[in-house]
Parts: sequence; structure tokens; C-alpha cells
Amino acid sequence: MTHDLVVANGTVVTPARGAFKADVATDGEEISAIAAPGTLSGDTVVDATDAHVLPGAIDPHTHHGIYRGLEADAETESRSDLVGGVTTIGNYFRRPGSYREIMDDYFAEAEPNYYHDYFFSLGLLSFDHVGEIPAIIDELGITSFKWYKNYKDVAPEKFGVDCEMHDDWADAFIQTLADQDVPTTLGHHSENMEITSARGDNPYIDAGVDADREYRDYDVLVDQFPDYAEAQSLTASGSLARQHDYDDDFYAVHVSAGRTADELAMLQEAGWEITGETCTHYLTLTAEDCDERHNVNPPVRSRADQETLWNRVADGTISCIGTDHCANLRDDKVGQDVPDSLPGFPSSATLLPLILSEGVAENRIPLKRAVEVTSTNTAKAFDIYPKKGSLQIGTDADLVIVDLEQTKTVTPDLLQGGADYSPYEGRDVTGWPTHTIVRGQLAYEHGDIVGQRGHGTHIDRPI
Ligand SMILES: [Zn+2]
Repeated sequence: MTHDLVVANGTVVTPARGAFKADVATDGEEISAIAAPGTLSGDTVVDATDAHVLPGAIDPHTHHGIYRGLEADAETESRSDLVGGVTTIGNYFRRPGSYREIMDDYFAEAEPNYYHDYFFSLGLLSFDHVGEIPAIIDELGITSFKWYKNYKDVAPEKFGVDCEMHDDWADAFIQTLADQDVPTTLGHHSENMEITSARGDNPYIDAGVDADREYRDYDVLVDQFPDYAEAQSLTASGSLARQHDYDDDFYAVHVSAGRTADELAMLQEAGWEITGETCTHYLTLTAEDCDERHNVNPPVRSRADQETLWNRVADGTISCIGTDHCANLRDDKVGQDVPDSLPGFPSSATLLPLILSEGVAENRIPLKRAVEVTSTNTAKAFDIYPKKGSLQIGTDADLVIVDLEQTKTVTPDLLQGGADYSPYEGRDVTGWPTHTIVRGQLAYEHGDIVGQRGHGTHIDRPI
């Protein structure tokens, strides 16, 4: 039989089967055959000789719509993602009102614009949100949520909600999540606010421009958010989750410090089943490389932190890698000094290439581990596996074909997104997609976007 599309003669890599030479066929939106190399025929054939075929990358941590509207970000950022082999993203969204009332409009902005698939994770900001959890799961197909420890006390001022986000409230939503009969995920921003806000202006209340202020560099940011404020917060909240037997669905987002990763390893050793995520910037930048463009919370830290995080990715403590991607323009991003600049930067499209370049090519992790942390484990953590992240017959045909030898210099033009800068601008990165396939559709080919805007769709969970 002739298949719709065949990726021929590549080296397929999956965590379940390791690396093997094969042809992969897709029909419609699914993988329909995996067979010996050179045996399958297709209407379209992509030659993957000398290349590797991986399940499409998943960025579980994006903030589309945070600085521009979702409509704009959905289009430009998902287009850019194809360049980097990302075929699914998880986007964080938070609003003070009722999600059941808001989400129809939000879905309507997403649906015509995404080139690839997506799911949402909703910020819990009030007791009303806690009460809505069963309906959000039932009616909206959303099963992941976020606990922002960094908005403790400031939520009334920042969001206009009647909730200071103290632990009685957290206790209530963890109990509610634990009581659901479908799998859920609780993302946790680990930060002890009493400590970080005492060390400078409260970073979540806009301090504004002050002409008399001395210039503050990146070290000021690092000093305001010390590693122990992250580590202590993770342990305290993880303990609360454990009291409700919910630690296996507790997901620590953007672990930035070696200390936090080491403490997470200790907790896992003791039987706590917390999942850890780090981001590419904590693995590939150090504070001394950073300026206004690299303001992000938590901040990028030291070379020692970076090496510890790589070791913890390699040994299994950290099981997912995201980016905290935000699309913003350089002029909007850069403020009076580093702390005054907007947090977040564009980075989804460089997720997989940076892990291939600085993880695999530098022998910090094997290719199979790179697939786990950029795709398979992430799909499992957000309960979209094996539909996503598996590369098995009968699952979504999300594939990325990578040339591990290809070196490109990062520029905004290369990445084709909405932002006019990249935190990695000028860096030579080795290991790039040559083709990206989204649910059976060839969407990116040697520098050209050939996919279809609107092809992407919301992944209703539970799948
Ligand atoms: Zn984030």
C-alpha cells in the first residue's frame, strides 16, 4: 500500500525502543506503520538518511498571550516552534474571573491560529477557582493547574481577587485536585515570597522608573531571588501535596538552582514522587552572560548551578525541560536596568536544538535522554501520553527529523517568531530540525514553513 507520508531510512529514537533504523509512515493524522528501512512507499517521501527521527518536542511551559494578544502569539510563536521541532505546547493562562465564562473566547482566539497542538494550564487565584475545578475538567478538557507561590499576599492588589493565596487556600485546592477521578497536574512556582520581597522592591508590584536610581545589573536580580528561597518553597509545598497523597501529580516548574535540584533528589529518594522541570536557560546561560534581555524569574544563576542541573537531568531527578517562553519586543522588554526590564523571553524554538547541542553533542546526556526530557516525560506529566511523545503506531504523527551535525547561528530571522531578539542571539548551535511534521502534516522543511495555520488544535484531556 502507499501511505500518505513516509519518513524513509532514518534512525528512530524513542525511550521505549532506543535507536533503530526504520521507515515511518503516516496516514491521516496518525502513525500507521514502522518498518524496516527502504520498505514503505508514500505519496510524499522525506529522506531521513543520516538523520534522526524523534517524537515532536513538547514545550510544557509557555506564556502565549501575556504581552501581546493570544491571537498574535498563537500564530507567530507556533510558526517559530516548527523551526525548532516543537509540535505541542502547554500554555499557562490566568485570570481572576470564572474560567467557565472566559475560556470560550480564549479557545476562539487559539483555534484558527495555531500551527501545532496545544493544551492549557490554568492559574488558580481564588477560592472561586477552586470551586470550579471539577467543571473546568469536565467542560473544558483542562486538567493542569498552577500554583503561583510568587503572588502570595499580592493577589488582591495584582488581580483584584479576594484571596491572599495563603496555605488554607492551597490546602483546599490540593484536596480538591486529589479528589478528582481523572489524572491532574499541579504546576508549582517555587518561591518564598517573604524572603524575596524583603530583599528588594516587591518584584510583582511595578516599582516604576526612578531617574535617581543607580544602575542595577544582573547580580541584583540573582541576589533578590536566592536559591534557598526556591528550594525551601518547593519542599514546603511538596510536603502539603504529600499530605493529600498528591505528590505524584505535583510538578515543580522551572527549577533554576542546583540546591533545589539536589533537595528534590533527596525528596525523591525518600519516596516523594514530585516531578521536576528546568528550562533551557538554566542549562545554557550563566548570570555573567546576562543583561536586560535575560530578565526572567527565577533568574539564571552560576556555572556550578548549571552543571548540577545537567547532572540532575542526566540522573533522572529533573525529568522535563521547558522554556517559560514569552514573545516580547526588545524595546518593550528592556527597561531602565536589569530588574526594571520585563521578565521572560522567547525560547521555545531553541529548546530542542540547545539540548541537542549542549546536552547531547557535549556528552552530558545521551540522545535517548534528550528525547525523554523534551517530549516523552513531558507528555506523561501532562497526561497526553501516548497520543503525544511516544512515536508508536496509532498515535499522533508528530515527528521531528534532526540533523545532529548541522550548525546554525541563532538570529531572530532564523527563528521566524514574533520577537525581534533572542536570548541566544549570536550563539552557534549544533543539531537542528530539517523537517517537522504535525499530526501527519509536513509543516517545516529546510527553513521554510509549509504547515497550515489553524491545523493545530486543543488537546482535550483526559485523552
Ligand atoms: Zn512561567
